[in-house]
Formats: sequence, structure tokens, C-alpha cells
Amino acid sequence: MAKNQVRVRFAPSPTGEMHLGNARTLLFAVLFARHHAGTFILRIEDTDQERLVKGSVEYILKTLEWLGVTPDEGVCFDSKGQVTETGDKGPYIQSQRRAIYQQYADQLLAESKAYRCFATKEELELMRAEQVKAKQPPRYDGRYRDLDPTEAERRAAGEPFVIRFKMPLQGKVTAHDLVYGDITSDYAEQDDHIIIKSDGLPTYHFANVIDDHLMQITHVIRGQEWIASWPRHLATYAAFGWPMPEYTHVPLIFGPDKAKLSKRHGAKTVLAYKEEGYLPEAVINYLVFLGWSPKTTQEFFLWDELVAAFDLKGINKANPIFDPVKLGFVNGVYLRQLPAEQLMSKAEEWLARADWFDRAERDYLVKAIASVQERAKTLAELPGLVEFYFNRPEPDVKLIPFKTQAPTETARLLELAVVGLKEIKEWTLIEIEAQLRSRIEQAACQNGELLWPVRAALTGREASPGAFEVAEVLGQTETILRLDEAVKQLKS
Ligand code: GLU
Repeated sequence: MAKNQVRVRFAPSPTGEMHLGNARTLLFAVLFARHHAGTFILRIEDTDQERLVKGSVEYILKTLEWLGVTPDEGVCFDSKGQVTETGDKGPYIQSQRRAIYQQYADQLLAESKAYRCFATKEELELMRAEQVKAKQPPRYDGRYRDLDPTEAERRAAGEPFVIRFKMPLQGKVTAHDLVYGDITSDYAEQDDHIIIKSDGLPTYHFANVIDDHLMQITHVIRGQEWIASWPRHLATYAAFGWPMPEYTHVPLIFGPDKAKLSKRHGAKTVLAYKEEGYLPEAVINYLVFLGWSPKTTQEFFLWDELVAAFDLKGINKANPIFDPVKLGFVNGVYLRQLPAEQLMSKAEEWLARADWFDRAERDYLVKAIASVQERAKTLAELPGLVEFYFNRPEPDVKLIPFKTQAPTETARLLELAVVGLKEIKEWTLIEIEAQLRSRIEQAACQNGELLWPVRAALTGREASPGAFEVAEVLGQTETILRLDEAVKQLKS
């Protein structure tokens, strides 16, 4: 196949929020398409009208947008942020393709490969109850499979009905999955599933085959949960005599208890990570590495590097385990790689909510951010981490003394520090360090005995960047002022 013929779709159902599992499937599909310079298509599978949640399509598109994914074809935002479509194989929203599915269902009816079923809800419930009683697996028993088609047509004029697919009654089917290898299923285990529901809309099982065929999808990349119903799809391709796309079923993400990932494992929607100040690059890197490996030791990739390295063969069969702590760690790595200026502009939304933001001078803020950058795991944490640079802390006489140091001793050492700091002509990190170290020598004390009080007096925090660094950012006047204040309090 020529490289640029690869066509891959992501086909979410608009049933609410977009979770990490969906996003990972999306990323695998996009990376595969980009790696092969192919086409990435977004299709919306909204045939289950009962599960629709208003606004989900916008939500899905916003998630894609945040992850930096733009569909080449299918549903997308226009320049005004309205939902629209692009491409010549549409519509790409399944509820708008009703007539297409009906045409193909009619073809199967005409060829006796499908049939109308008039079983009522009560009838089906009774059938199931009897099966359960007889300790048989519950399944549709094919009771309308052999109804005379003319009779069926007559009844269809006045009765509600569904259209069911005539599954082969026996035989096996083997298909190849790029992750799981050859999978063989017994047709006898499958009942005649519904392809068109009584509301005239198709089921997923029918619509995905028709659409993947008509949209010329070459590779289907979807969740592992669809393996069980795969024989239905395979039989549908066979009934139409259509060639099949290649299939890759992606292992589900698990929580630490080996159950399917959910909120109770601390997993959130993709956009919740955005709100909390995660970088899309970090979320992408974390998700792609959940069950995929590039077979190198490189751990952190830029998007273009992922595109170059991505290969479906690198997907591991084992279900990966979600670890929120690792995600935070990965985000921290990406945050640290940013120049402080960029970090500041990315964090602007959060910084702007701080009470001190309006009086913050830009260069000072950049320096403050640079000094705490090592410690931030999310953009949302930044305002809290730099706050002490803007709001002068009340000296805390409990915090400032080093370990069991007597407050009078702390005050004495701080005064010594102030004497040294006042002598500095050019306020640089090197000068500050040299001055404070020589005062430590003069006092013949340990580093911590002088540096802890200085740092604690300047920041009011248990944890912060070191004394030299903080002093440098604060500047000479403010540093001395804070230390003087602390001395006053310690002596009172
Ligand atoms: N609509 C299905 C889902 O959301 C898509 C499965 C597929 O990609 O074929 O799970």
C-alpha cells in the first residue's frame, strides 16, 4: 500500500466526557496516521440516542484541540469554533447517515442475509427468563429467522420491528489482530444481532462496518472491549463481500486493582487535567507510554519524535496500569524543560487569579518562577509556590530558628547575615553566597544554623528554594527588610 493511502478514524460516541482511555486510543490512531502521512478522520457515532449527552461533540473537539489534534477529515470546528465537517465522504455524524444504513440493510434483506424480527420486549424477556431457568446462556433464539419474507413485509406495514443479521449457524472465523495476533471465534456462539433498531437507526455493529467501508478506512484502531463482537463485524464484511481493514484492538487501561480504569482510581477526564495545569505534551507522553514502547530507552518525546517512532507493533498486550503520581512526575519534567518566560505565559490563567498579580512586575515574576520551577508539578501550583515573593510573610518565630536553636541565637546570626548582605555592592547569587558563607565561618556555626533562619525568614515556608536564590530574586532592600523584621520579632 502506498504510504499516503493510510486512512484511520477515531469514532467516539457523544456520551459525555472524554476519558484517558479514549484519549489514548485517539493518540494511537493519530500517531499511526501521521507516521504514514495518512488521513486522520473524526467520526461521531451517535446512533444510541438514549446515551447522547448534549454538548459532547464540542467537548470531544475541545479535547482534541487541547491535545493539538486536528482531524484531516470528518467532524471539526470551523474558524468560529462551531461544529462543522470537512471531507467528501460525509456526513461524518452517524445519525445523519440513516438513509445509507437503510439502503445496505435493504440489500441484506433482499439477499436473505438479514430479516425482520417482530419480537416484543415482553416476548424477549420471557425468552431470556426461560433460558436462565434452563441454565443456558441468554441469547436471541432466531425465532423470526425463517419467517416468510412476504409475510414479514406485510407485518412490517403495521408492527414495530428490528432488522437482524443472519449469522452463520456454524463454522469458525479467524482474523488477525495487530496486538493480539490471530483470534478464532465460533459462529455458533453468536446470536443474530440487531443491525437496524425499531427507531430506524443502526446499531454500532452495523454502522461501524458500513462507515469504515464507505470511508475507505484502512486501519481500525479501537478498544479491546470490541473483540467480543468482532465476529459480527467480520460476518458483515463477508456478507457484503467487502475487503476488511486491518484491526488493532488496544488493551484497556487498568487501575492498580486491575479493574477497568475509572474515577475511583484517581483518573480524570482529559480536560480536567488541562484545568489542573497539566501540559498537553506531558499528558500525551504519559498516555502514549501506557502500553506502548518505542523499543529504545528514550523516555520523553516531542510530538514529532513520537510520530517518527510510532509503530502499532510496539503496543503491548498486557493491560497497562494508570499511575497518577507518575503522570504528575512526567508533567514536572515537561514544566522544567520550559524557559521561565514560556512557563509564565502558560500559567498566566492561574497566576492572574492571585491577589498580588496586578502589582507583579514582569521581570521579577519571571525570576520568581524560574526559582521555583524545579518544584512545580502543575501550572496551577505556580501561584502558590511564588506567593511569598509578592506577599511579605509575617515572621514566624516558631519556624525561623534552626531545630532547637534559641531565638536569641537565631537573632544574633540573622543580624550577622544582615551585616554581610549590606556590604554587597553588586547583588548577585555569587556575592550573596560568598557573604553568607563568610558569616557562617565568622560565627563558627553549621550552614543550617544560619541558612535555615535566613531562608525561613525570607519565605515564611517550610520548603522553598534555597536562601541564596530567594535573596537574589527578592533583591537587597527587600531581603534586608525581611531579615530585620524577623530579628525584631525574635527579640520581642
Ligand atoms: N463508538 C465506539 C466507542 O466509542 C467506537 C469504537 C470504534 O472505534 O469502532 O467505543
